[in-house]
Amino acid sequence: MGCLALNASFEPLTLVPPRRAIRLVLDGKAEVLEVDRERVFRSERHELPCPSVIRLVRFVHVPRRFRRQVTNTFLFARDGYACQYCGRHRSELRGRQFLTRDHILPVSRGGENQWENVVTSCSPCNNRKASRTPEEAGMPLRTEPTEPNYVHLVWAVRRVTRTQAKYIRMFYGEEALRLVKG
Ligand SMILES: [Zn+2]
Repeated sequence: MGCLALNASFEPLTLVPPRRAIRLVLDGKAEVLEVDRERVFRSERHELPCPSVIRLVRFVHVPRRFRRQVTNTFLFARDGYACQYCGRHRSELRGRQFLTRDHILPVSRGGENQWENVVTSCSPCNNRKASRTPEEAGMPLRTEPTEPNYVHLVWAVRRVTRTQAKYIRMFYGEEALRLVKG
């Protein structure tokens, strides 16, 4: 389990390995906000409880990367890991069925790889729909696809503890982490 590193502004930055977190703390570059009492970090000279949340002492300017391209990891998370045509969750797929990315307006007909034009689809539904629109195929969508909050998605697909989640909500509000975990 990584340690959640916060900027001086309390903005969640990333998860770092505990060893790196302890190094930052020992070097005076970060302070410990939360420790994992179940785990102890041992080195030649130190025996410390493992930090689970640290905060950088000095503000680090992080260039905002507005990555808006669709990846399957984020697409499936946005859609709750469920087919947007038949509604089956990933755990209900059988045999060789799997989740895919479906283009509502097919690429072959000018459909683009944008959040509003892609949905999660199980492989049988994707095959059945083929190069038709949902209307043409008589396969209505269960939800209207929209562009999700990118930062929310980034944190929703990572494994964080309850304590770490508290700090992510504190900064981004209740909406963050609300996505269904698959
Ligand atoms: Zn389906």
